[in-house]
Amino acid sequence: MKRVLVTGGAGFLGSHLCERLLKEGNDVICMDNYFTGQKKNVVHLIHNPYFELVRHDVTSPYFVEVDEIFNLACPASPVHYQYNPIKTVKTSVMGAINMLGLAKRIKAKVLQASTSEVYGDPEEHPQTESYWGHVNPIGPRACYDEGKRCAETLFVNYHKQNNVRIKIIRIFNTYGPRMHPNDGRVVSNFIVQALRGEDITIYGNGLQTRSFQYVDDLVEGMIRLMNSPDDFTGPVNIGNPGEFTMLELAEKVIHLTNTKSKVVFQPLPADDPMQRKPDISLAKKVLNWEPKVSLDEGLVRTIEYFRSIV
Ligand code: NAD
Ligand code: UDP
Repeated sequence: MKRVLVTGGAGFLGSHLCERLLKEGNDVICMDNYFTGQKKNVVHLIHNPYFELVRHDVTSPYFVEVDEIFNLACPASPVHYQYNPIKTVKTSVMGAINMLGLAKRIKAKVLQASTSEVYGDPEEHPQTESYWGHVNPIGPRACYDEGKRCAETLFVNYHKQNNVRIKIIRIFNTYGPRMHPNDGRVVSNFIVQALRGEDITIYGNGLQTRSFQYVDDLVEGMIRLMNSPDDFTGPVNIGNPGEFTMLELAEKVIHLTNTKSKVVFQPLPADDPMQRKPDISLAKKVLNWEPKVSLDEGLVRTIEYFRSIV
């Protein structure tokens, strides 16, 4: 049995990861400050004696004896990470320093939840791990993008300087049950709007693209990366290469929910990336990983979840 710390464990992705780690017979500590996560996401795990829930902010040092750390603490939706941008930078940077310091001290392996946002508004398409990105350092998304980029720098240097065993995963847009209905991300927004019969809000002309991966595929990728040999640190892209415009996504949601909602167009937020699609050759080669759940299948499962709560 491994002892595993998951920061941001009460969030959307963290709660699925905690569930999977418990299923595999691990002892899990879920740490969260509940900024965007909720106890509700993990309440079904609380009866498990191998699950501990801790209210703590990752920007403050935290000491615990574990074998592995998954560092997920950080708001992920643009609405939430732009609410208090200074705090977002602190969460990424100080959170990374605290978790790397802990990993160094207790000789744990530590995985950083990085993001496709490190590529910014990419000029290379699809994005490979060797692409350095195209990020505006003073734009509205910078608190998140640059915070995550700095966290990657810290990870790589703790590895080189202090031999800390690190893993960096670059996560592309992920969706599924337990996304917060007011989270502001496109999949949850469209589904909630469709189920309520409200207008479906497309920002800009809707021709910008994203690649959406279902949460179960991501969790599988995270576990495989953590279990990979120590000399493989990443960064590695984990995402579904299927690429869709926001108009196509809206059409799918309208069709699958059978809603009477109509699309409306609203202004495109500043620095909104035009396109995004992962090159997953590295994940295929090293982790023998590729996504299994199609967008239609994942949307059906996600719509089912939102029907139960909206
Ligand atoms: P989420 O907002 O649901 O989860 C983030 C969790 O971190 C929440 O439970 C929140 O309360 C917690 N948190 C935030 N600040 C904290 C702090 N200072 N101290 C302790 N806990 C804190 O978002 P998510 O989609 O589950 O994202 C999880 C991680 O994955 C994030 O690091 C995010 O950047 C990364 N990621 C997610 C996606 C995606 O599409 N979902 C894509 C790329 C990267
Ligand atoms: N978007 C949209 N309508 C919404 C929410 C988002 O058209 O109600 C667009 C947004 O402008 C972006 C894409 O959907 O182009 C994905 O947005 P999200 O916030 O989910 O993720 P990110 O931009 O971080 O990839």
